Amino acid sequence: MQRTLCFLLVLSIAAGCRQAGDSATSHITITGIDSSRKPGDNFFMYVNGIWYDSAQIPASQSGVGAYSFMNFPQRIRLQGILDSVAASNNTAGSIEQKVGDFYASGMDTATIDKRGYEPIKPLLSAIDGITDITSLLKVATDEQKIGDGSIIGFSVGPDDKQSTINIAQFYQAGTGLPEKDYYFKSDDATLGIQSAYKKYLSGLFELTGLDAASAVKNADITYGIEKQLATSHRNNIELRDVKANYNKMSVATLAKKQPNLQWPALLGNLGVKVDSVNVAQPAYYDKLDQMLKSVPLDDWKIYLKASALSNFSNFLSRPFAEVAFQYNKALSGQAVRKSRAEEMTQAVDRSLGHALAQLYVKKYFPEDAKKRVALLVDNLKKALAARITRLDWMSDSTKAKAKEKLQAFTEKIGYPDKWRDYSAVDVKRDAWFENVLSANKNDYNYRVDRIGKPVDRTEWYTTPPTVTAYNNPPMNEIVFPAGILQPPYFDVNADDALNYGGIGMVIGHEITHSFDDQGAQYDKTGNVTDWWTKSDYDKFRARTQQVIDQYNQFTVLDSMHVKGALTVGENTADIAGIAIAYDAFKMTDQGKDSTKIDGLTPDQRFFISIARIWRVKTKDEFMRTYVNTNPHSPATWRVNGPLMNFTPFYNAFNVQPGDKMFKPENERIVVW
Ligand SMILES: [Zn+2]
Repeated sequence: MQRTLCFLLVLSIAAGCRQAGDSATSHITITGIDSSRKPGDNFFMYVNGIWYDSAQIPASQSGVGAYSFMNFPQRIRLQGILDSVAASNNTAGSIEQKVGDFYASGMDTATIDKRGYEPIKPLLSAIDGITDITSLLKVATDEQKIGDGSIIGFSVGPDDKQSTINIAQFYQAGTGLPEKDYYFKSDDATLGIQSAYKKYLSGLFELTGLDAASAVKNADITYGIEKQLATSHRNNIELRDVKANYNKMSVATLAKKQPNLQWPALLGNLGVKVDSVNVAQPAYYDKLDQMLKSVPLDDWKIYLKASALSNFSNFLSRPFAEVAFQYNKALSGQAVRKSRAEEMTQAVDRSLGHALAQLYVKKYFPEDAKKRVALLVDNLKKALAARITRLDWMSDSTKAKAKEKLQAFTEKIGYPDKWRDYSAVDVKRDAWFENVLSANKNDYNYRVDRIGKPVDRTEWYTTPPTVTAYNNPPMNEIVFPAGILQPPYFDVNADDALNYGGIGMVIGHEITHSFDDQGAQYDKTGNVTDWWTKSDYDKFRARTQQVIDQYNQFTVLDSMHVKGALTVGENTADIAGIAIAYDAFKMTDQGKDSTKIDGLTPDQRFFISIARIWRVKTKDEFMRTYVNTNPHSPATWRVNGPLMNFTPFYNAFNVQPGDKMFKPENERIVVW
């Protein structure tokens, strides 16, 4: 589990219908309000109910909605670019050639199917050649370089205590289910996923020519090893503990502590030449060290084969991808596979994303959006600074430091000034599997080369066409890619109410991440330090505890509860993000005015915009996995949760005692 950046959206859901706000008119009419519902009972459904009740989720998707509204045209645009460059005669080595041939090689299912699992045979025979722990670790590190992590969770990133320098980081790894708890829970839904996973593993083995009984046996052995490894894992709530994830150790100490892992050789094989590394979750490496001895070598070989097959199943012939899809179906509820073109568009975005992005922004990104959004960011920062000044629970000395941190923010908007270089990636039109490996190798070298070097502050951790935003605490930065600078989040033709309730809320959310349960532990330079007074920090923690307690009450799929402790950072960012966006909106002419548009006051339009950006409807299987694993609350609670804590919302829609969202004023949570 690598460092989690606070991505706004981790969903990738496509398709859906067009909504008000997506046409380029100077006046945006809001339609679809469900006046049969009371806004104070369920504001999400008041705004989205008519749409929600009639929306159909296409069989090839796990959901539809506002994200889809964004992602559907986005995918069509990217796919259009790829179809066009794949059909052109491009200069060898050009971006167009790499991207076009990469995509074309993935679309060439005839060649892919004809090759069956032949592309992965060299990896499987390398595993067969393992004779001892030393050769096992050599194979595992070699596979790391082509994108199969298996037992080693290796990454490169800023040192949390010296954030200007990149260090090698080791995270818990080795498991295939979405999270630790999936191995140990025994409710029906979890048992179903465990069995789908084992079926997936045995299915992969069968496709390599094993009889059914041997394939099942291999799946059981693999699952057994994973479950043992999982006992040492931290769960996704424990992983939020920033300080617990920092354990910088010398290689000499590690060599003594975990002798079977043979750290000096392991690091040498990885190409990492350093004296110390961060072992984020040391218990995992203790367990792995012990299991390298206790688990028979033949079982490890089976495990490594399962890892390789599983990791690359989507890049082999159709039957492999089909088996993988069946497992994914259990997690997401998606009934049929996406079109090949949709899958390949995502694959190009993953492997050569910054090349595709260059073609995308040239064609679709309006440069003036940068300036407009920069202005919004400035206004939001002013609004938060003013809120900090007014806080009644924080001392002046902590306030001054919080403001310094806010002023030190970097913002990235649209796309990077400097693009990733893919010149070392070898792309051939008839070699899909090898193309993927070449991109993975390039990515690996790119990461390893950065160890011990100054952090590149211009780097982007998402591709620009992605519909997301993020906050990166070690760099004290917020990032808004081109993909999110579109309706319903942002529209150059919309009134301020809609833009402040849309992208404004997103900006407020990202800014707040610097001051949520995790972000608050990083100072203005991106180092983890105690910059708070103890008493202020205790008061802050008491407030985030209120957020945890409140969100624990919220139900999903009738009986499931939101995990308050897992989602506290995102919920804090939602609660404060809306408040900051609202304050900034009140600084605009429209915010100070009361002129109605289509019968709606400026404040009403602001709140409706918030509910519209989270419009989404998902399959139950998807929602179950999401609530168990995702640090964001479900869409309904990203709207109703913060708003039930926000008094101006009560005033805008006359929310009264007896309404389901009503909370007495002294119970409304304010963190920032
Ligand atoms: Zn977030």
